[in-house]
Amino acid sequence: PARSAAEGLGERISFEELVALIEGRLRAAGACEPVARELALNCASCERDGTLSHGVFRVRGYVDSLGRGWADGCAEPEVERAGGAFVRVDGRNGFSQPALAAAREEIAEAVREAGAAVVAIRDAHHFSALWPELESFARSGLVALGMIAGGKAAVIPPGARQRVFGTNPFGFATPAADADPVVFDFATSTMSHGDLQLHRNEGRSVPPGTGVDGDGEDCMDPAVILAEGGLSPFGGHKGALLSLMIETLAAGLTGAGFTVEIDAEAPAGAHTFRTGQLYIVIDPKRGSGDGFPGRVAELVGMLREAGMSRMPGDRRYARRRRAEVEGIPVTDDIRALRGEVSG
Ligand code: NDP
Repeated sequence: PARSAAEGLGERISFEELVALIEGRLRAAGACEPVARELALNCASCERDGTLSHGVFRVRGYVDSLGRGWADGCAEPEVERAGGAFVRVDGRNGFSQPALAAAREEIAEAVREAGAAVVAIRDAHHFSALWPELESFARSGLVALGMIAGGKAAVIPPGARQRVFGTNPFGFATPAADADPVVFDFATSTMSHGDLQLHRNEGRSVPPGTGVDGDGEDCMDPAVILAEGGLSPFGGHKGALLSLMIETLAAGLTGAGFTVEIDAEAPAGAHTFRTGQLYIVIDPKRGSGDGFPGRVAELVGMLREAGMSRMPGDRRYARRRRAEVEGIPVTDDIRALRGEVSG
């Protein structure tokens, strides 16, 4: 169904109700309890914070993957310490968030011992935003970086004649004294695949430079970019090289397939992709003692004073505060989900 925010109409749902609703739908699709719970928390957090392209909009994709047996909703991830700071996780064809949750204790142990952890997840489907995982590390005082080899070949770098990269996102989170963590998270393409689909569904064109048609010419029609062409990396060759790094680390180094390999094996119509994810988690105390969050706050204060008034996370945290008071706006997607769960 078309997405239309119900703001103004006044209908609201609480975060807990939304989590229960999504969890119920995923359980009905065959996901086991801990998996359904992790995915529902992630999805509801995105919806609450206004990241609608990764909120309830995604439930259908999860249900589809579970229904086809393409992803295992009851996978039990295998966590091993491959060396001092190196944590390897085999997601066993399950989802990435439960795989990371299963590794949390091992990661905390590695950070205590070594001051940092490299977390390499393979054989796990990631179908959401990266910031929820990254923000939770920052809330426990750690700096975190994350990247995903996207799984769906969607990006044509300058000079290439075919889609070779996923929209391969990269994210960063750091604690800041007396403030919410600073968190950013973006696709290395000009636009995320979800947003491109939303543009197509809503009949909107995309700005010049977003992507190319089948002949490699600049194209503003999202339907053509999706069907015949591809998205461009952001920042020309620089975004393309970041994406190359993400394929190297999140796929090559974790033991997952490269985007083109995964896309080639996915069944027609697959929504979630069995990819690799790499996280680097750092205890900042090992670098600059207890003063680090204060230094970040100083940096942010200086930037705001210089006129960079919009910091990453500002929009999401504002939406979250509002949702905590007023509830989450009920969209058509949420109504449809309610119908499926009660019917
Ligand atoms: P956006 O462009 O929506 O946002 C990028 C980041 O920049 C956000 O952290 C945002 O903060 C911040 N930001 C936005 N505008 C400004 C500004 N003017 N000044 C300072 N900061 C700003 O990201 P994308 O559309 O590229 O990606 C959307 C999501 O898609 C990401 O969460 C990504 O993880 C996800 N994704 C997932 C994939 C997967 O395989 N699982 C593949 C590709 C993308 P704020 O949050 O406050 O708006």
